[in-house]
Amino acid sequence: MARYAMVIDTRRCVGCMDCVVACKTENQVPEGFNRDWIAYDARGTFPEIQLEIRSERCNHCDNPPCVDCCPCGASHVHERGGVVLVHHDKCSGCKACIAACPYDARFINPEGYADKCTFCIHRVEQGLKPACVSVCPTHCMYFGDLEDPNSEVNRLLQSRKNHALLPEAGTRPHVFYLT
Ligand code: SF4
Ligand code: SF4
Repeated sequence: MARYAMVIDTRRCVGCMDCVVACKTENQVPEGFNRDWIAYDARGTFPEIQLEIRSERCNHCDNPPCVDCCPCGASHVHERGGVVLVHHDKCSGCKACIAACPYDARFINPEGYADKCTFCIHRVEQGLKPACVSVCPTHCMYFGDLEDPNSEVNRLLQSRKNHALLPEAGTRPHVFYLT
């Protein structure tokens, strides 16, 4: 069984937002909303300051509170790759998942359902990479199967220092940032 994950090299990300534009185009994300975004995280004190630029999105958590809290069975873990998805037709738009997600990764689509990154599972199932990964001009984004010991994502996580966001939330996120 595959377990998909994304690995993003923060040393190569320049914050150009091509990933954001590609996602909006690929997934027809409505105006005023985003499934992915760029975060700027300045650390340290002058003159030892480090700026981490991150392309962020739903972390497709292993322990997703957005799924646990959904009263309609709309939010669910997809059978393929552990990807967290929403059945649009089952969603009541109650926003419980939006309140439960510690990453602010969801929004209510104007059509009335909870919306967010899908890891472009429709592309992955055709053997393609997620749209954001495929367009990144600095090639700082990687997508693959953590269950495959020879995958590029595994190799990178084993060879480079990395972190995930808000590990203290206990959600076990599956987007990792190389530092
Ligand atoms: Fe759910 Fe938020 Fe985790 Fe995505 S990042 S799986 S929306 S808790
Ligand atoms: Fe479930 Fe939709 Fe409510 Fe989110 S907004 S908890 S997906 S019914």
